[in-house]
This record gives sequence, C-alpha cells and structure tokens, in this order.
Amino acid sequence: MRNSAVYIGIGSNLGDRKANIEKAMRLLGLIKGLKFDRASSIYETEPVGGPPQNKFLNGALRVKTSLGPFRLLAELKKIEKRLGRKRGIKNGPRTIDLDILLYGNKKVNTKILKVPHPKMHKREFVLRGLRELK
Ligand code: AMP
Repeated sequence: MRNSAVYIGIGSNLGDRKANIEKAMRLLGLIKGLKFDRASSIYETEPVGGPPQNKFLNGALRVKTSLGPFRLLAELKKIEKRLGRKRGIKNGPRTIDLDILLYGNKKVNTKILKVPHPKMHKREFVLRGLRELK
C-alpha cells in the first residue's frame, strides 16, 4: 500500500505545554506504519469556544502512514490518553489534542471521524501551520 501524506493538528493548554507537544511528537514517531515528516512552527493561540481557559500552543505535523484513517485516529487517542488527557468538559483544557486535519485526498464523514477536519478552515492557527508544511 502506498503511504498517504497526512496532516495532524497538535495542541496543548494544560501543564507544561511545550513538553506535552514534544512528548506527543516523540510518541507519534514510535507508531508502527507511520513516518514523521515535518513539523510547523508552534504558535500561541487564544482558546476558541469552551470555558475560560489558558492559551494554547498549536502546530501542525506532516506524516506519511500506511495506517487507515480509523487506525490512525485510534493511535492518536492512545497518545492523548497516555499523556493524561481527561475527556470531560467539551472544548475544555487539554494536555494534548491531536486531530487528523487532512488524510491525502480522502474524505471521511462518520460520527467518530470527519476528514478534512470540519473546523479546520475556521481556525487561523491551523491554517497557518498547514501553510508552512504545504
Ligand atoms: P476533540 O475533543 O477535539 O479531541 O474531539 C473529540 C472527538 O472528535 C474524537 O473522539 C473523535 O472521535 C472526533 N473526531 C472527528 N473527526 C476527527 C478528526 N478529523 N480528528 C480527530 N478527531 C476527530
């Protein structure tokens, strides 16, 4: 199977944000069937939606993977869990947030996974990271 170019959004606004992002990137690089390609700069951004909370550090990553989009989503969720992300408040603070922004030219539209990421175009910080990598 040919590897697809996949763009992943990464963000953190809880604890040591920079360390969280670095740890998540290291764990991403350990996933079998995924090759880390490039990372954008990391930007500090205002939280969008949700309760009042700290600013985020955000960036975008480009990887190549032979994993399908659902397998990849499961791997990203494992990393979020491992870094202590507690799901609770919608759009609330998080140690790490990993989103599949684009998966080659694939379109996915299910309850658990939507690609391209539906909120991507509304978030300038996501587009900023992506533009750097394209
Ligand atoms: P969030 O709180 O932003 O991490 O989003 C929570 C849920 O969004 C996850 O549990 C996923 O099932 C779902 N989701 C839908 N589309 C995507 C996507 N493109 N990347 C990551 N999560 C997604």
